[in-house]
Amino acid sequence: QAVKPEAAAAAPKVEEEVAISSRDRVVFPDGGQTKGQLADYYVAVAPLMLAHAARRPISLVRCPQGRAKKCFFQKHDSGGLGDAVHHVPIREKDGGTEDYLYLDSARGILQCVQMGTIEFHGWASRSDDVELPDRMVFDLDPDEGLGFDEVGQAARDIRARLSDLGLVSFAMLSGGKGVHVVVPLERGHSWDAHKDFARRFAEALSLAEPDRFTATMSKAKRKGKIFIDWLRNQRGSTAVLPYSARARSGAPVAVPIAWNELKEMEHAHPYSIDQAEALIRRARSKSLQGWGFAEQRLPDL
Ligand code: ATP
Ligand code: MN
Ligand code: MN
Repeated sequence: QAVKPEAAAAAPKVEEEVAISSRDRVVFPDGGQTKGQLADYYVAVAPLMLAHAARRPISLVRCPQGRAKKCFFQKHDSGGLGDAVHHVPIREKDGGTEDYLYLDSARGILQCVQMGTIEFHGWASRSDDVELPDRMVFDLDPDEGLGFDEVGQAARDIRARLSDLGLVSFAMLSGGKGVHVVVPLERGHSWDAHKDFARRFAEALSLAEPDRFTATMSKAKRKGKIFIDWLRNQRGSTAVLPYSARARSGAPVAVPIAWNELKEMEHAHPYSIDQAEALIRRARSKSLQGWGFAEQRLPDL
């Protein structure tokens, strides 16, 4: 049903709908960015973000007193989040059911920001069928001291190995230290198959090049290597969502990049919440068209 132009013009904008209190409160002390600036960032990138974040169970990183004070991971509604932060019941291991959170609007994002949220993390499945994963993430975690060149090269090598298996993948800078290699998948396989594929893929890489890669979480075994964190692909795990801000120094954001850009990157946090306009322009560029989308199925191995 078409919306009349005058009705569309009269509709309140999301920044008018969701009142952000304490806009001047400093959330990022090192750069001075405020809660108001964080909210404005999210208003600007909401359409980009929702393409990846909408209708996924999410976890929030909330830092009500700013990123330098206590922050906490939140999976469930503790009250007060708002009417656009929806609930989806999910079966727990113990047989019970818990309500998880999901969003489908800029309004929902802003209601979370109003409650002190900085980061948004998402499941690898969507809220209309949480038992069917639809994206695989290889989270590359370099040991301290490894250069970003090596992380970038690792991501490109993983892309090539995935391509050998017929899978298209995409790169995202986490806004922290590493790169996430994202593999969109059609739904149809189980969590067991999802996790098993991710584990075997990571283990095969570390077996082939044990000096470069490890597939075990242990920090001791990571010395001088990159941990291919395949554990993001378990039921209930999350990964930071594209365009989420990070509760880290400089107010960086997780940013999708084109494969040919990775070589020029010096670190995983080149963009901050101060650069919404640049991010929107980038997202419209040819090299980022279709980022994160592909119709493909997990191959039988
Ligand atoms: P970096 O590039 O610096 O590693 P990252 O976002 O990949 O940034 P990780 O520590 O590797 O950070 O974590 C990967 C993902 O695991 C996060 O994006 C988050 O979704 C999830 N995660 C991390 N810590 C927690 C936690 N304490 N509780 C729940 N989930 C977490
Ligand atoms: Mn990581
Ligand atoms: Mn990790």
